[in-house]
Amino acid sequence: LYDRDGWLWRDGDWLPWREAGTHLLTHTLHYGMGCFEGVRAYRGPDGRPALFRVAEHTRRLLDSAHALDIPLSCNAETLITAQRECLTRNGLANAYLKPTVYLGAEGLGLRAKGLTSHVMIAAWDLGDYVSPEASSVGLRALTSSWARHHVNISLCRAKTNGHYVNSMLALNTAVKAGFDETLMLDPEGYVAEASAANVFLLRDGALHTPEITSCLQGITRDSVIRLAREVLGLEVVERRITRDELYVADEAFLTGTAAEILPLRELDGRHIGARAGAPPPGEPIAQDSVTARLQRLYRRVTRGDLGDDLAAFADWLTPA
Ligand code: PMP
Repeated sequence: LYDRDGWLWRDGDWLPWREAGTHLLTHTLHYGMGCFEGVRAYRGPDGRPALFRVAEHTRRLLDSAHALDIPLSCNAETLITAQRECLTRNGLANAYLKPTVYLGAEGLGLRAKGLTSHVMIAAWDLGDYVSPEASSVGLRALTSSWARHHVNISLCRAKTNGHYVNSMLALNTAVKAGFDETLMLDPEGYVAEASAANVFLLRDGALHTPEITSCLQGITRDSVIRLAREVLGLEVVERRITRDELYVADEAFLTGTAAEILPLRELDGRHIGARAGAPPPGEPIAQDSVTARLQRLYRRVTRGDLGDDLAAFADWLTPA
């Protein structure tokens, strides 16, 4: 990952990719107190790259830092300009960007004083992160025995580095057991999210997704809610959901910046949508399913293929 040409941004400076190191005593490395974003850029119809919902990602990054009480000296405008320049400087079009806020190496220990705060941005080529086959075949998931975060244990609204230990414990267990993904429940046993994606189910024509308590306030989640309501005219309900509601759903899918919209085909050995006539896990989903229709809309809106029906979402794209 580090032995390549390119430029990284840090605190206003451009660093050659290979030289962009940090000290081993960097505080965030030791305690996980930092926050980050995952942002996508896509090549548009004119060949130029555009960042997708970069203003919302940047706001979430600044909100995460604020909630963690990490002061930052740069504002949203600086960070958006830097993300755009990260694409042009590195000659990227279909890319993934990872802006990260971290604490410096001025002290160690939980009571360290005078720590500096920093922001870095890395960007790399992503192409199609999920192949078209994988996005139509979807995933088999296992409900985790690890609970997802609780509002009184961590900052559920913040995308904090340390939160991902919990995600990886759950994901690694599921992957070792032969599954693709994990479904995480909140400490009271209600559906929270997957390891790094939000979850939706369709039942009797309406979409349902967990309210924002234990799950991250996903930006893809918000995009899907708006596309479902405003373009497909569907009812979308944010509420508490139990795992067996996913077992008996007509359709289910996961959403995230990297994964986009991925069908959830099987949970704990139950074939989701069997009663509604869904093809079995391992076979492509129906092209007229709500999941496939949302995937097509999301694909168009991210790649700038807007047309009249999606013209209202033009401000989701920021050309580099
Ligand atoms: N939940 C978690 C834990 C995540 O890491 C992500 C990915 N950022 C998501 C949900 C989806 O969020 P978004 O759509 O903003 O990428």
